[in-house]
Amino acid sequence: MRYLILSDMHANWEAFEVILRRARRKRFDSILVLGDLVGYGAAPNQVVEAVRRMAPRLIVVRGNHDKVASGLDPGTNFNQTALTAAQWTADRLTSANLRYVRELPEGPVEVAPGLAICHGSPLDEDTYVFSDIDAFEIFSSFDTPVTFFGHTHIPSLFSLEGKRLGVTALRGGSGSIQLDPKGRYLINPGSIGQPRDRDPRASYMTYDSRRRLVRWYRLPYPVLAAQKRILKAGLPHALADRLAIGA
Ligand code: ZN
Repeated sequence: MRYLILSDMHANWEAFEVILRRARRKRFDSILVLGDLVGYGAAPNQVVEAVRRMAPRLIVVRGNHDKVASGLDPGTNFNQTALTAAQWTADRLTSANLRYVRELPEGPVEVAPGLAICHGSPLDEDTYVFSDIDAFEIFSSFDTPVTFFGHTHIPSLFSLEGKRLGVTALRGGSGSIQLDPKGRYLINPGSIGQPRDRDPRASYMTYDSRRRLVRWYRLPYPVLAAQKRILKAGLPHALADRLAIGA
């Protein structure tokens, strides 16, 4: 099976559109979306509608911003900027899109035997997986061999091959990694709408499960147009500024 893996679009239509155009979706058997369709960016309806159009090949989980923007979570752990954006989003989503976001499933979701997706950690959808210690805790109690996750906005790959715990930062324009059939992996495709690894380009991945091949990609997109949309919407300036530096 060939999978297209998309995460953390955060209502950034300019970034999402470039990826949808370039990724040649027809080549994929299934599209995996790892949550945070909305929040921060100023085009929530466009992004949600593009995701909805991916059905029936779509498998999706909700993110923390999807929960706050759709009223499932009060966002008490959000900073003021994130909360302002979530409330702005709640006011703008059409009722059909709001309902869709509210009904997104909680991860982890098993996509196929041995393959799962989640937003944060497979043990808790809101927990960040940043370090090898975080990954080790998951490997100790969650035994699905390959899990794709999002939430940190940092493209990365954690592995447990035999007793060896590994971390690979997925830097640069694109690349590929062959997974060991006996290894276990936690893999983050990075963020489409708000990259945070000091590379402003939109990030996504593909996975060919027969060849066990993960490929990652970075694509430039019209950052200025996304920033203008944010400012025109009256959203906090910081949300526009960070897109230019990928932070
Ligand atoms: Zn996110």
